Amino acid sequence: MLKPTKKRKACEVLEVRHLTESTAVVRFERQGLEFEPGQYIRVGMDGDPEIRDYSVYSGADSDWLEVLVRRVEDGLVSKQLCDLEEGDVVTVGGPYGHFKLTEIVRCEPLLFIATGSGISPYHSFVESYPGLQYRLIHGTAKLDEAYEAEAYGGNYFHCVSREEGGDFRGRVTEYLRELEIPRETHAFLCGNCDMIYEAFDLLQARGLATENIHTEVYF
Ligand SMILES: Cc1cc2nc3c(=O)[nH]c(=O)nc-3n(C[C@H](O)[C@H](O)[C@H](O)COP(=O)(O)OP(=O)(O)OC[C@H]3O[C@@H](n4cnc5c(N)ncnc54)[C@H](O)[C@@H]3O)c2cc1C
Repeated sequence: MLKPTKKRKACEVLEVRHLTESTAVVRFERQGLEFEPGQYIRVGMDGDPEIRDYSVYSGADSDWLEVLVRRVEDGLVSKQLCDLEEGDVVTVGGPYGHFKLTEIVRCEPLLFIATGSGISPYHSFVESYPGLQYRLIHGTAKLDEAYEAEAYGGNYFHCVSREEGGDFRGRVTEYLRELEIPRETHAFLCGNCDMIYEAFDLLQARGLATENIHTEVYF
């Protein structure tokens, strides 16, 4: 039997916040789409068959959905999403994915690790679960890529690899080598696969069990 597909919705764009030259948060109508924080949705331009996966950036209780999109110059869809304006229409499908915080895991020490736009599911976690105890380590090339870091208060730690500034000069994985990580920690890794493979090995070598390491690979 064919698996039932989740019907796509046409959602009007409500707002676009340009965070840097190449990154925007796109807010659009929710239209009753239910998701669990950490999940992703499929988004494309209305009438265009090309769609891509984007973690939901907004919290579970928001009236709208938001995604944080990094513009890939050679790409097809991300550029168009970054250029959207209020009143445009996107098609949205989903939700999908298992990168979630179960009730049990929420009570453990949490370490959120991201590169670039991989910070998006953590924004949804933090918006959805007030009082969450976590540390967030965010790696970016440039200093101005600390996307809406004020949302995380003192829990945010910025590793900047190509410019002076931030909390650490270098890559996330270099910082992880210096960090003390209790064995009961649940670590979440989101972003590019090079970081995820390297961080996974590092965390395992520190004694974290495989089931305590959760991953979401973007590209
Ligand atoms: C589960 C999941 C969740 C995702 N969530 C997000 C998200 O929240 N925000 C987001 O910006 N992207 C996210 N992505 C990536 C997104 O789906 C697209 O791949 C990305 O936007 C590029 O699409 P495109 O059509 O512009 O480029 P394409 O035409 O599909 O591809 C162009 C090339 O760009 C590479 N690429 C993809 N993403 C990046 C990137 N960020 N930086 C550099 N190169 C890249 C691809 O590997 C490919 O080689 C997610 C991917 C997955 C699998």
